[in-house]
Amino acid sequence: MRHTALASVLGLALLSNAALAQAPLDAVSSRISPDSLRGHLSYLSSDLLEGRGTPSRGLDLASEYIAAQFRRAGLEPAGDDGYFQTANWQYAQRKDADFAFTIAAGGSSLSVPAGGATAGFLDPLSLAATPAIFMDWKAALADPGAANGKVLVVPAAAVPGAAGILQQQLKSKPALVVMIDKERRHGAPGGWLIDPEKPASKGALPVVVVHAPDAAALLEKGGATVAAKVGAPEVRPVKLRNVVGLLRGSDPQLKQTYVLLSAHYDHVGIRNGEIYNGANDDGSGTVSVIEIASALAAQKERPKRSIVFIALFGEELGMLGSRYYGRHPVFPVKDTVANINLEQLGRTDDSEGPQVASATLTGFDYSTVTEAVRKAGAQTGIRLWKHPVNSDRYFAHSDNQSLADLGVPAHTLAVAFGFPDYHGKDDTWDKIDYENMARINRMVAHAVLGIANDPVRPAWTNVPNATKYLDASRKLNLAR
Ligand SMILES: [Zn+2]
Repeated sequence: MRHTALASVLGLALLSNAALAQAPLDAVSSRISPDSLRGHLSYLSSDLLEGRGTPSRGLDLASEYIAAQFRRAGLEPAGDDGYFQTANWQYAQRKDADFAFTIAAGGSSLSVPAGGATAGFLDPLSLAATPAIFMDWKAALADPGAANGKVLVVPAAAVPGAAGILQQQLKSKPALVVMIDKERRHGAPGGWLIDPEKPASKGALPVVVVHAPDAAALLEKGGATVAAKVGAPEVRPVKLRNVVGLLRGSDPQLKQTYVLLSAHYDHVGIRNGEIYNGANDDGSGTVSVIEIASALAAQKERPKRSIVFIALFGEELGMLGSRYYGRHPVFPVKDTVANINLEQLGRTDDSEGPQVASATLTGFDYSTVTEAVRKAGAQTGIRLWKHPVNSDRYFAHSDNQSLADLGVPAHTLAVAFGFPDYHGKDDTWDKIDYENMARINRMVAHAVLGIANDPVRPAWTNVPNATKYLDASRKLNLAR
């Protein structure tokens, strides 16, 4: 039905795609099926997995399922614990009763409930009613001392880690910093993760992020005082896991080099009692990694280079899993020739119009990986296209960035940048176009295979936006 309707609009291009789809599939493509993708995704994005927040039991269940599928495919386990690359982190959580935060202004006062603010620090804090001073970031960082001993109120910056920048660059010595984040851009309710490689410095300036809109309004008005009594959180160990499987290459030399196919398997968990299933973001990428691994591992002939399949934790909290992998690469970074990261492959109802039999890449002009994908697209009937704005803008928005920073040509491949249920509770598995996703998978499988069998490794180009990655890759060359 869709093809008929679209064909009248798009004409011959689509008809030839339809013809291609009916042609007999090659040995790799025939191993990739819509039903298989549907089966995997209906489990991984089921309510049982509770939105796969990092950390959660749902995330652990997902990791075990992915490992089971890698095992079934016959991949070599490549983690420290079977297929798992384990990050031993901590989770800090404060009891609601240990958080009291009161704002007073103009004769009235307001208590912010524990859910209305995030206080990600470890030392207990006790602050009697203290005058608050509101500044923008520029003024706050330039302030030589007007905020000394006061509560410094600033808007939340759009960058993760803003609180850290504040810690390092502030010249004044406020008693407390309050950041106003009405959109809850950072900090999930409940608790927070501690990466022991970046210890939360004892005695650091406490920062409270306020989300409650009425409290934010009161603070922005000026002339307020803030009182706070915040207890120390409970800290417990957590294991976060990347899932890593290897398809060993066949060429005596090239098998010591690696093509990385990745996707993040976490999503945002439960919010306000609702499960955010994350079927398209990024269950679709995760099941594609599984399906492509299984298709490639089933071939009689091995690829020349080795292929690494990896499902990553914590992308939604700031690419935690891929950053972890970058600091603890399982395979040498200098021998990793490319990373294709998969995001949002299942929905064709792009917010800007339908995207059927088409896919896009972030950093479209940044490296020669694009050429390999375009070739595979021609082979499998998928049009690869560059979004005039988003292909560049979204380069830094997913896990490919962690590999790119190290110099590895790395891109995210997606069908749609935006779709109606993005980060909404209705991103569910029944809304996925599995036929189309299977076709996209066939292209990705051929692209990965193309790179794995090409003795010439992909390279960054000379476009200005790719300069720093090109520089990083030159350093890798020297290490080779
Ligand atoms: Zn995502």
